[in-house]
Amino acid sequence: MKLAVIGAGIGGAAAAHFLRLQFGKEVKIDVYEKAVVGGRLATVTVNNQQYESGGSVIHSLNLHMQDFVKKLGLKHRREVAIKTAIFNGDQFILEETDWYLLNLFRLWWRYGISFLRLQMWVEEIMEKFMRIYKYQAYGHAFSTVEELLRSLGGDRFVNMTHRSVAESLLELGVSQRFIDEVIAAVMRVNYGQSVSIPAFVGAVSLVGAQANLWSVEGGNKLVCSGLLKLANANLIHGKVTAISLHNSEENTLYKVRYETEEENQSDLYDIVIIAFPLHHEMANITFEDFKPPITAFPGSYHHTVSSIIHGYLNSSYFGFPDPKLFPFASILTTDSPDLFFSSIGNICPVNISSAFRRKQPQEAAIWKVFSHQPLSKQELKTLFRSYYSVQDTDWLAYPHYNSDKKIPPIILHNNLYYLNGIEWAASAMEMSAVGAKNVALLAYNRWYQHLDKIDQKDLMHKIKTEL
Ligand SMILES: Cc1cc2nc3c(=O)[nH]c(=O)nc-3n(C[C@H](O)[C@H](O)[C@H](O)COP(=O)(O)OP(=O)(O)OC[C@H]3O[C@@H](n4cnc5c(N)ncnc54)[C@H](O)[C@@H]3O)c2cc1C
Repeated sequence: MKLAVIGAGIGGAAAAHFLRLQFGKEVKIDVYEKAVVGGRLATVTVNNQQYESGGSVIHSLNLHMQDFVKKLGLKHRREVAIKTAIFNGDQFILEETDWYLLNLFRLWWRYGISFLRLQMWVEEIMEKFMRIYKYQAYGHAFSTVEELLRSLGGDRFVNMTHRSVAESLLELGVSQRFIDEVIAAVMRVNYGQSVSIPAFVGAVSLVGAQANLWSVEGGNKLVCSGLLKLANANLIHGKVTAISLHNSEENTLYKVRYETEEENQSDLYDIVIIAFPLHHEMANITFEDFKPPITAFPGSYHHTVSSIIHGYLNSSYFGFPDPKLFPFASILTTDSPDLFFSSIGNICPVNISSAFRRKQPQEAAIWKVFSHQPLSKQELKTLFRSYYSVQDTDWLAYPHYNSDKKIPPIILHNNLYYLNGIEWAASAMEMSAVGAKNVALLAYNRWYQHLDKIDQKDLMHKIKTEL
């Protein structure tokens, strides 16, 4: 039996790993990668040190990512404390201090109990989301992203992919001011978009703004290369150009055509998993002979430029003429028409020795700026007194969310699956890992006709009674 995974980002690498666990060691697993293993988990190098330029932070309750790191013998990168502030283009409207109680008091003073309401909302969603780990541990799979969400949080979770985070929070009693200032800042730093993004991805974004975050020592991309090895997958450095049907005597196979530096080749597979976005600007393969035809899905991906800049911050721009007194390492922004960036943060390398210390604000440091377009010379001069280097990565980073987009299917054909539809619920490393395990279980359950393990209703109750 032969399986193919196309794309070696965290989704594809995790899919290869879970396919191996499900189908056993006899099957052959080929993974195709047209560029670099890791995909949107990538680093750039400044002065011999690497810095995350794509997906960077992971929540402590992201259990698949935790498990991968443990299995691969990787480590959590040491955390170096920082202070955050929110800038509205004119001044800081919220500043974190060293004092927990003072921070709480400031939140309460400015926003009333909105932050408590928000906290409870996020925790409830998180708690329900965690059910997925139990369902997956029992081998249950879902044939659509909607079914997966419904099993976790009922129709409410599905509806959360259609209505905006602002609308949901207002209904909860969160104040407009809190939404405009704090929620907007979090949506901008995590997804480069506004509070009109759907509530589900909004909640994931808010979870990603909590304190208990980590990343992988040496770089998050190490998880991808590690999982491919662990899965004993055969990595093919090639770009898949087309998938077509190939009817053999026994069953239908998939013919995968691909280009390597040397030649064009093809191979036949029983099961194929597509682990990269199939939306217009990224859908770089054609599907031949399929009825109904498989075409690119509507919607587009959001451009986020990640600029890694080695330089001296211009603290005057933020109202601190003396750079020595500038206390913040992370600056978020509100949705203001004058602002040309979403966030700026003083970042640490992927390897932190015990002797590492964050640079003083008056020293040259490494900053990461997220913006919608590459920063112009003038914009760089606004943010930095001077700089040594600028490295831009222009990502098609995550879906450009709006509430009327339908989530793409997982099953494209009998044994042809699509992983990245889950990004339209929310794009994050853990979501790709959850999607990868789901697709591996779904492929397995369908192949061996374990239909009782697909789209089961009332799973929480069933699992409890099975125990
Ligand atoms: C700037 C930025 C910041 C982010 N921050 C965070 C964060 O802090 N925390 C978090 O959890 N998530 C974050 N994310 C999101 C997270 O990085 C992504 O959701 C996740 O990495 C997606 O992984 P993937 O494997 O699904 O897709 P990708 O990483 O895009 O992998 C797809 C792979 O498929 C390959 N490919 C495409 N076409 C073909 C083809 N025809 N043939 C062969 N190979 C092909 C590509 O080269 C690529 O390597 C961030 C993303 C960006 C861009």
